[in-house]
Amino acid sequence: MEAYQELAKITKAIAHPTRLRILEILGQGEACVCHMTHLLGQRQPYISQQLMTLREAGLVRDRKDGVMVYYSLTCDCVGDVIASMHRLLRATGVEVEFAPTPLAPVSGCPCPVCGGEGSCSV
Ligand SMILES: [Zn+2]
Repeated sequence: MEAYQELAKITKAIAHPTRLRILEILGQGEACVCHMTHLLGQRQPYISQQLMTLREAGLVRDRKDGVMVYYSLTCDCVGDVIASMHRLLRATGVEVEFAPTPLAPVSGCPCPVCGGEGSCSV
């Protein structure tokens, strides 16, 4: 059963609306906390908390660059997992629309990827 417990642990880390959104954003490439904060319209401590859960589960990793901390997916396969979950949801008969994640630059985002000064220190 241990293997299934490990599988359940990683599934639980994924199974949260904000963490699913974060994983979709990171599917486009690495991003800093302020970029995700900006895209999701949530407060930074909240996003950092969700990122910590994802990192503890081994789903994301971080990279420091000066004052900036960039997050990325540990495995590209996360994108496949989420795509499969979308298919599964449709197969269960739930009809919902998913808005595509906007690509950088995101207007008003201060991160360097969006052309800002990178003023978001964490
Ligand atoms: Zn940005």
